Amino acid sequence: MNFKSKVVVITGAASGIGKEIAIKFAKLSANLSLLDIDLENLKSVAEECRNLSESKVFPLVADLGKSDNVKTVVDLIKQEFGKIDVLVNSAGIARIGDIKCDDLLKDVDNVLNINLISGITLTHYAAEALIESKGCIINIASIMAAKAGIGSLAYNVSKAAVLQFTKCVALELADSGVRVNCISPGSVKTNVLNNVLPPSEDFNKFWDDLIEDHPMRQLTTTEDIAHMAVFLATDKAKSITGCNYIVDSGKTLIKFASH
Ligand code: NAD
Repeated sequence: MNFKSKVVVITGAASGIGKEIAIKFAKLSANLSLLDIDLENLKSVAEECRNLSESKVFPLVADLGKSDNVKTVVDLIKQEFGKIDVLVNSAGIARIGDIKCDDLLKDVDNVLNINLISGITLTHYAAEALIESKGCIINIASIMAAKAGIGSLAYNVSKAAVLQFTKCVALELADSGVRVNCISPGSVKTNVLNNVLPPSEDFNKFWDDLIEDHPMRQLTTTEDIAHMAVFLATDKAKSITGCNYIVDSGKTLIKFASH
């Protein structure tokens, strides 16, 4: 498997799943454009990727929740590489708050903006380049897309919409040869969940307890998700579009709480 002449754009690349996907593609010699709002961590991931490959690594710091930034970023990537082969929309945030929560409306706005609208906006501006390269798009949704959850309305709604966004764009771009799929991870030990744990929560205990919710008695790792992303970007997946791949160590096979 080799992505030597390919250009892979990854959002949320400074941390967690996006970072792991970047590392995986770097090992496969892809040229990378890494996007994130977090300057410090993005710099260090870009450095790590450069050490793994001779290919170009082009990090861009941007708040992808702002559509003007997204347009600028896509223009810069096109100037740098002249094309886009793979777009991975991984940037995401979570907020916790029930329907009466004071911050609910603000949170819904922010979460939808980053988890959903940023991916749609990027796809909009990158569509021409992706059509030209007969490329592919991989969206990171969540198993929460198909579940109810107390206090996680904003997040669950955003991820359910990512599934529908994936299907609609897959249909629209099918005859252009662009494939659009999505991955729904289960519980993966990254900052997105850590950031919503109450400060009193024992962090390690929380994750240890969570293993009990998994029939396979293991948490899903960032690597598991990255392997699936790479597979979806290869020709081996050439007949796969509009699909959602659940990677969750069996968590959705059983009844589980909202975390
Ligand atoms: P993470 O917090 O480690 O990574 C998210 C990245 O998105 C961070 O680097 C963050 O800086 C970036 N980001 C946030 N807001 C941004 C903005 N406005 N502009 C640009 N970048 C921004 O978490 P993660 O687990 O790697 O999350 C990646 C994706 O996976 C998210 O969409 C998340 O919802 C999804 N997911 C995670 C889990 C899990 O258990 N970790 C489960 C299901 C789905």
